[in-house]
Amino acid sequence: MRIAMISKTFLPLAGSAMLLAGASQPAWADKFQNCVNGLWPSAKSAGVTRATFDRAFQGVTHDPKVIEQATYQPEYVRPIGEYIDRAVSDKRLETGKLRLADNKELLDKIESRYGVDRNVIVAIWGLESNYGTQPGDMNVIRSLATLICSGTKSQFARQQLNSALKILQRGDITLEAMNGSWAGAMGHTQFIPTTYTAYAVDYDGDGKRDIWGTIPDALASTASYLKVSKWQSGAAWGYEVKIPKGFNPKRYGEKTQKSLAEWQKLGVVRVNGEPYPRPADKAAMFAPEGTNGPVFLTLNNFRSILRYNQANSYALAVGHLSDRLKGGGPFVHPWPSDENHLSLDQRKELQQLLIARGLMEGDPDGVIGPLTLEAVKTFQRNKGLPVDGFPTLTVLKALRAET
Ligand code: CA
Repeated sequence: MRIAMISKTFLPLAGSAMLLAGASQPAWADKFQNCVNGLWPSAKSAGVTRATFDRAFQGVTHDPKVIEQATYQPEYVRPIGEYIDRAVSDKRLETGKLRLADNKELLDKIESRYGVDRNVIVAIWGLESNYGTQPGDMNVIRSLATLICSGTKSQFARQQLNSALKILQRGDITLEAMNGSWAGAMGHTQFIPTTYTAYAVDYDGDGKRDIWGTIPDALASTASYLKVSKWQSGAAWGYEVKIPKGFNPKRYGEKTQKSLAEWQKLGVVRVNGEPYPRPADKAAMFAPEGTNGPVFLTLNNFRSILRYNQANSYALAVGHLSDRLKGGGPFVHPWPSDENHLSLDQRKELQQLLIARGLMEGDPDGVIGPLTLEAVKTFQRNKGLPVDGFPTLTVLKALRAET
């Protein structure tokens, strides 16, 4: 991923994107080609050869899907609890356990070489690309050129493009296989080109840093990045905690660092009642829903995960998934929202309403299968809601409002 920080500050330049979309085909293509030609001087001074440049851009066209995704602004921002529940789903946990077993020997070696907890490496793998199954299939050069030439996130894309061209030039990956997300996040680890250039490693020693197709390179690259991000070997990312009655967690912002022993003195203890293993370590309080949801103390390693992707919700999901992979249980305190968990009756009602609208067939049984998910997606698409197929209370309410 590695784009959260940029996304937060990004405002879509809808004007220029619309200008491109509205122009006639040849003018549009000419404009794109002129723009691509104009990228040469900067590439040249970055050390890209003309041969690499020409090969990379041969036949490249503007990709409207990139602009669509780059300018997508969800109307509905998920509560953190819903995000965590989906990020750390039973399926992702189950698959993660299989991947840990499949790669045991490799992870033994990576863990001892980089000192990074295998469960965290696998959790990041799960969140970034769903264990390599969703690495993104958009050509990185094309995506970056589209962003630059449409004026959407163009400053970011310009920074990435020369790195991307040099990756091609070194022969780490072929042009055809150099795929990623719309923002150029690539492979199992979803490194953007500059992150790749700085942190990817050739773990299997074949001369290529292959985060797209070589699992040892990908997992070692993640470990290497965390190590450089000051990962502390043997330390936790943080703990879910209990707070005393009347304690206001919002009084302590992320900047307030106290040792675990000091927190303990304030009555902030682990939910399982066990002592803090490293009481001198500094921790900050993280209470995204105040006293209405789980409260956490986050340690140095939480901040290392934030270097990977600068969203607290992401770092919490990685930390929690890693704990679950180790055999830990769900959070003790529930999240405040029931948004994510429709009751059986609500699920049946949802299906009934989808059937009534002709979006699916069958009998409402409350079992959310592929047919229901597809029907929810169609409904979301028709309503201009974010299309993820997830049957939430928001979707149910929108369906009720239609009836
Ligand atoms: Ca390699």
